[in-house]
Amino acid sequence: MINTNIKMVGLFEKEVETMPRITRLAKAAEPARTNGPTLRFFGTMNGESESHTNAVFFPDPNTIVFIDSSMLNVYRQRSLIKNSLIKSVYCCITHTHDDHASGAGRLAWCTHHLQPGHELTFLVDATVKNDLIGKLTREGVIEKSTDEGPIYNLMEYVHYGKAWVFNDRYGNCNPRLLKPDWFIGTIPTDHTPRLNGATGFAFKVDGKLIIYSGDTNTIAPFVRFIERTTGQANYDAETPIELYLDVEVRESTSHLQFAKVKAELAKLLAKYPTMRIILMHYEHYTKLAYEVDKTFGGQFAKRISLAEPTSFC
Ligand SMILES: [Zn+2]
Ligand SMILES: [Zn+2]
Repeated sequence: MINTNIKMVGLFEKEVETMPRITRLAKAAEPARTNGPTLRFFGTMNGESESHTNAVFFPDPNTIVFIDSSMLNVYRQRSLIKNSLIKSVYCCITHTHDDHASGAGRLAWCTHHLQPGHELTFLVDATVKNDLIGKLTREGVIEKSTDEGPIYNLMEYVHYGKAWVFNDRYGNCNPRLLKPDWFIGTIPTDHTPRLNGATGFAFKVDGKLIIYSGDTNTIAPFVRFIERTTGQANYDAETPIELYLDVEVRESTSHLQFAKVKAELAKLLAKYPTMRIILMHYEHYTKLAYEVDKTFGGQFAKRISLAEPTSFC
């Protein structure tokens, strides 16, 4: 049951084989038509693997949104930016561990050179901003920008009282920074104590509510976010929800462990009939797939699956 996505990805790749390369790359980043998950993945595993969990979606034909950028994936991200239709490039950074942000500076440069006048915009939570700026500065990205003009924008999502605002990288509220219509917000979470912050993201894409945990050792902020969002008077109960969650089989202080979180996942699937859960950032595909199949082999089998990497070349 857990392997339905593999079949779907296989068909998808066969179909795009004969297309011109650029079209093929763009096509590979689109959501699968067979009701597959909206996000496509460059990699789906943890930082110790060769398949770092970084994702992508196209909210419209002119816009590409990456979630995190590892050096392992940055050149495949670069290939997608080459698509001439792309006018806006965003990268949402969940936190600054290497498997999520080691490619961030390189991605800014690639965007700057490939799309003159359309600089990369990093979208970060206020808690992650200083970690990211420190990292980019150490890589010489900011210093270089004083010679050649800014090579990236940074939108910092800050909660002031009851209003969310965007600041630029200097901490100034910048009226030019408009909230993209696919962006709902950040979801601060706990991951490891040595980071200033780690966040998940919420998006609205193709009428779906997308919740992306990033690396997290707790599910609570995401459950609260979903409860709050779906509890609003204007929320449509038919809206499909996709919850992408960092889950491993082994015990960990930095990530969710499947054995400890499975009861909560079952509760969520029962409470929200439109929800689909996609597990990512795992350490071992087969072991996790086995556990998922064993636990959710019955009524929820089609609504919980493991993220699958997409072949973009
Ligand atoms: Zn990670
Ligand atoms: Zn991490």
